[in-house]
Amino acid sequence: NSATAAVDLVKVYGSGDTAVRALDRVSVAFPPATFSAIMGPSGSGKSTLMHCLAGLDTATSGHAMLGGTDLTSLSDRVLTRVRRERIGFVFQAFNLLPTLTAEKNITLPLDLAGKRPDRKWMNQLVEVLGLGARLDHRPSEMSGGQQQRVALARALVTRPDVVFADEPTGNLDSRTSAEVLGLLRDCVRQFGQTVVMVTHDQNAARYAGHVVHMADGRVAGIGSPAPRQQVN
Ligand code: ADP
Ligand code: ADP
Repeated sequence: NSATAAVDLVKVYGSGDTAVRALDRVSVAFPPATFSAIMGPSGSGKSTLMHCLAGLDTATSGHAMLGGTDLTSLSDRVLTRVRRERIGFVFQAFNLLPTLTAEKNITLPLDLAGKRPDRKWMNQLVEVLGLGARLDHRPSEMSGGQQQRVALARALVTRPDVVFADEPTGNLDSRTSAEVLGLLRDCVRQFGQTVVMVTHDQNAARYAGHVVHMADGRVAGIGSPAPRQQVN
């Protein structure tokens, strides 16, 4: 029972002498309603694993499962729809549109899909993420932490099966990072949201209930919070 899983996943960049085996037969499952972290040194394959699981990158072989759906078997068109409707994304750069208010940024994924926001769900998100007073503000009028909260709300607005967060605290000071990580954890606890975060930050990984350690394109170990060794 996993929300997302890699099965024998291989990713090779390039070919011939210069080929890089970024993922070397990775099999790993991420449990539902859990805050998971993928950790490991730079170049160990963390981003590649996340991108394959999120349907942003195509694996060379193996399977990227989203629940019972094998993303590697889908056409580009269907994959794009699955990504829009069933996956949420949070990035290091918040990727908010500068001309839109917080509220419009949050509902953007729904607007693109021609769907109306569920008012009750919006209200819950706004309350848990503490965005009430900010909904009319544009990104330039918000702090980094507030912008990341908006990005988090945007990732959750479609009620995705999984939220993938790529170094979500990379641009934040340590106090604001702690706040955002606490909020991610709240979403897992209060909404049963599945979150998979890529991070090289030991402190960030402490918020996770499930940690996958990568090294050289393989899973080097699986553990809960405290990593067994200093990576980086
Ligand atoms: P991490 O996220 O842990 O830093 P990556 O998944 O980004 O690791 O990279 C894994 C390996 O794949 C590294 O050796 C990296 O140089 C290589 N790699 C990543 N993306 C590309 C790419 N687009 N083209 C060629 N090699 C790549
Ligand atoms: P497409 O451009 O193929 O139609 P979407 O725009 O629907 O895909 O992308 C779905 C989500 O994935 C969006 O939130 C988008 O920001 C994100 N995304 C798309 N491509 C990348 C990428 N290369 N790296 C990181 N995120 C991406």
